[in-house]
Amino acid sequence: MSFELQTLVRENIQNLKPYSSARSEFTGSAEVFLDANENAFGSPAGGGYNRYPDPLQRRLKEKIAEIKSVATDRIFVGNGSDEAIDLLFRIFCTPGRDEVITCPPTYGMYGVLAAVNDVADAKISLTGDFGLDTDSVIRGISPRVKLIFICSPNNPTGNLMRRDSVIEIANKFNGIVVVDEAYIDFASEPSFIEELANLPNLVILQTFSKAWGMAGLRVGFAFADAGIIDLMNRVKPPYNVSSIAQRAVLEACQRKAEVDEWILEVQKERARLTTALSDLDIVEKIYTSDANFVLAKVADANEIYRSLIDKKIVVRNRSNVELCGNCLRITVGTAEENRMLLNALEGLQT
Ligand SMILES: *Cc1c(COP(=O)(O)O)cnc(C)c1O
Repeated sequence: MSFELQTLVRENIQNLKPYSSARSEFTGSAEVFLDANENAFGSPAGGGYNRYPDPLQRRLKEKIAEIKSVATDRIFVGNGSDEAIDLLFRIFCTPGRDEVITCPPTYGMYGVLAAVNDVADAKISLTGDFGLDTDSVIRGISPRVKLIFICSPNNPTGNLMRRDSVIEIANKFNGIVVVDEAYIDFASEPSFIEELANLPNLVILQTFSKAWGMAGLRVGFAFADAGIIDLMNRVKPPYNVSSIAQRAVLEACQRKAEVDEWILEVQKERARLTTALSDLDIVEKIYTSDANFVLAKVADANEIYRSLIDKKIVVRNRSNVELCGNCLRITVGTAEENRMLLNALEGLQT
């Protein structure tokens, strides 16, 4: 493989002179800040929110670097990992010309962001057991394909993709391989972070929205070669993560032990839910999950979905998604919530 980052980047991005914010031009210590047209008197919200946030989220990145053992210049922080996905399209894909490969059934935002950016989505379906069709993905590579999205553990199927398949694809592709690890904290296998050193074209997406329990704060992050991270920082809106989000996430990082406890709890509940659901005759199959949800193949997904809504329980109906006929995606809840779900489903048995 001859991966060359610069030749992959769109010309307008190569030539881009990024916005230089007041806070990025001055980084020393000062006492009087008259550089950013902020309200010098204060903020009715308190908390020092009259000041713009750190555009490069330095303290937060130092914390993430410590937790994940990755250098800070290999970390991007965004307004959810969805922002990172959008940036990758805008950096690498010329609208109306380039393509990406996605492997459905998978996370819906890849296709939506492809459409928003007017980039063709060459879909190469997973195999019957939700594995990557590695040969077809490799055959689908052309000079127009700039990004390949691989979600592992995959949403909505819950399974991990084979490590050797992902590495083979990355080795045979001159574009960017995006490995979306939104659910990696629940998985039985390690992150792809350790492959970063060998694969210059790898971008790993993670998020504070799932295991970390901060979906409402909108903070996601990406790991990649420093050159890719630099491009993402140049293209992003200067103040893409608010002060309140940076502060809250930084403080939450001190309580990682609590998060680790929840992860163990979710894994335990996932196993319990899998067994209990499998025992119901309206359930045909529960797919093995490395995430915080299970995919259930049921007798009549639409009917069961509606009956659960009547009982004020909402799950995700995935029955219209390819390879997921009659499937419901069920998030693992608290023991009490899972019991309520199981009771409701037992009530639907014939
Ligand atoms: C939930 C989810 C995300 C979204 O992450 P945000 O950081 O909340 O934007 C990304 N990828 C997958 C596969 C997800 O399921």
